[in-house]
Amino acid sequence: MSISERVKTMGESITLAITSNAKKMKQSGEDVIIMASGEPDFDTPDHIKKAAIEALAKGFTKYTAASGTDELKSAVCRKLLRDSGLAYKNENIIITAGGKQALFNAFLSIINSGDEVVLFSPYWVSYLEQIRMAGGIPVLADLEECIANPEKFASFLTERTKAVLFNSPANPSGRVIPEEQFRMFVQEAVNRDLFIISDEVYEKFLYDGNQSVSPASFSEQAKAKTIIINAFSKTYSMTGWRVGFAAGPKEVIKAMGAIQGHQTSNVSSISQKAALAALESSQECVTKMVRAFSERREYMHKRLCAIKGVICPKPEGAFYLFPDVSQLYKGGIKGSMDFCSRLLEEKKLAVIPGIGFGADKHIRFTYSASMNDIEKGMDRFESFCNSL
Ligand code: GLU
Repeated sequence: MSISERVKTMGESITLAITSNAKKMKQSGEDVIIMASGEPDFDTPDHIKKAAIEALAKGFTKYTAASGTDELKSAVCRKLLRDSGLAYKNENIIITAGGKQALFNAFLSIINSGDEVVLFSPYWVSYLEQIRMAGGIPVLADLEECIANPEKFASFLTERTKAVLFNSPANPSGRVIPEEQFRMFVQEAVNRDLFIISDEVYEKFLYDGNQSVSPASFSEQAKAKTIIINAFSKTYSMTGWRVGFAAGPKEVIKAMGAIQGHQTSNVSSISQKAALAALESSQECVTKMVRAFSERREYMHKRLCAIKGVICPKPEGAFYLFPDVSQLYKGGIKGSMDFCSRLLEEKKLAVIPGIGFGADKHIRFTYSASMNDIEKGMDRFESFCNSL
């Protein structure tokens, strides 16, 4: 007896594994600074918590429709109209357990065995495994090469391509795809009648006047093929509540709902009420958080650029810095995994090795940590690099 072929080669989620290990070290009294998982350090805003408490008090604790409550779907429709100028009906919306479930159910709904999904590298860890679990084959296109030479994107599309996946602003690079190139990539997908999956979880985390656009807003044809993925986790500091959503063509959303009905049923009724309050109340809490992230990004970017052997592009969005540290791979350090293990062991600083994102020359820092921890973290990192 053995486990399924499907999971034999699958690793753990590196982002979650490293963070949980570092948290354990911290709990056992070690002075660890965690700049690993992309989880805002801010508490969930009070008005959102209050909505959950009210839901509990009123007994809103039973099953809802597997695909989510109508009131939350309607609020998502209003949000998409307000933020992206996109008109959807409730039948185009599904409420999911975070962005991850939305993505996975989207893959399960559109991929047949052997279908290819083209995505940019560096990529977020779970994309590859989710595509594979759904029976698909991830095909990697280098993001910077495609931005510099947009015609190159088409060379990754074959007769087996079923979908293209975009994530702008991107995890881990923080890159925002410039609109001109983005439109070209999307047009190419539309011309070939491909599905377009757009992971927009970092849409609010933008700096220096950068704008994020949804590919669904490029044309009616693009909208008809696009499945938007989004979540409350990052935007409202609600990682533990597990609420996300997808918006897209009715038949795909219906299929995702059917899968969800057999899989998890609805997202916690209480979390759905909290998410409703998040969307329908003032967005000042988001603005405040992004302002804080912007200051931290400036500070960390300056510090990292001043360290010999570290090359750090300035991210336009999300909340990560993704420096190339490969010049420091020496003295027994063979790659990003060794580098990060030594950094944790010697300086008690937890960051994510770039190999998890398909970029072994890099490591990923998140600036979703307090300024105090960031300052200490940068001191430790500088001293580690200088010791190599
Ligand atoms: N998406 C975040 C990250 O990349 C949270 C952890 C995860 O789900 O991978 O760190």
